[in-house]
Amino acid sequence: MAEVSNLKIYISADLEGVCGVVDVEHTRREGREHDRARKWMVQEVNAAIEGALKAGAEKVVVNDSHGTMRNLLPEELHPEAELILGSPKPMSMLEGLSKEFDGTFFIGYHARSGSFGVLSHTYAGRIVADLKLNGRSVGEPGLNGLVSNFLGVPVALISGDQFAVEEARELFPGVICVITKEALGRYIAKCPSPEKARKMIEEGAFRAVNLLKKGEIETISVPSPVEVRLKFLNPGMADLAQILPGSERLDPLTLKYVAKDVLEAYKAVRAMIYLGYATIK
Ligand code: ZN
Repeated sequence: MAEVSNLKIYISADLEGVCGVVDVEHTRREGREHDRARKWMVQEVNAAIEGALKAGAEKVVVNDSHGTMRNLLPEELHPEAELILGSPKPMSMLEGLSKEFDGTFFIGYHARSGSFGVLSHTYAGRIVADLKLNGRSVGEPGLNGLVSNFLGVPVALISGDQFAVEEARELFPGVICVITKEALGRYIAKCPSPEKARKMIEEGAFRAVNLLKKGEIETISVPSPVEVRLKFLNPGMADLAQILPGSERLDPLTLKYVAKDVLEAYKAVRAMIYLGYATIK
């Protein structure tokens, strides 16, 4: 098979999985250490961009995917990349992703709600207790990756703690995994130096693009229809979220939604979460 050239890479960048980040003081806008953590985030993203470009990628688009989605400092981002920032975005952590891309990178990702891992949650820590697709619990690596695969774009690289990358490794054959820290608890991690983590990310991005060029990272598909089960943290959230047409209340905390495909499932999950937010007093 001929090598693919002119590769386009899409990066979804979160913060909880960045080396050195262990606390809400790092991740919240008002956190006392947030401004430092934002710098670590942009440095990890730049390492991924650098590795991708060195391997021959032609274009890199970065989507700021954490909280306000205005964390990455535009003036500090690699000059060859483009940045999608601001919120709310209809497609959230996947805004701007389309079939024109050849590979997706997840940088700074964290583990799913209810699992081990630094600051684990699924999209909304105050809303989602568990999210299942066709009976399997998924977090952001799984859900976002399956949508990317549905659009025909393989997940080529993930960085984060060992639990975040494990979810991607289980689902996406060939994905390059970079462990930026070893989670020892929800707010505890053993971290290499940020410089070392960035080097590993750059090398991982380089390898990932080389695999993409050779067509060696494939997409997987989810059988349709896709059954979503979203378990909320309290029944009031499910009370309101069940106004989503087609949703079905299974128990005080859980709504079911049967989607025609993963993309529709993603949109339903996004809508239910926003409705859940509306109940927070
Ligand atoms: Zn985040």
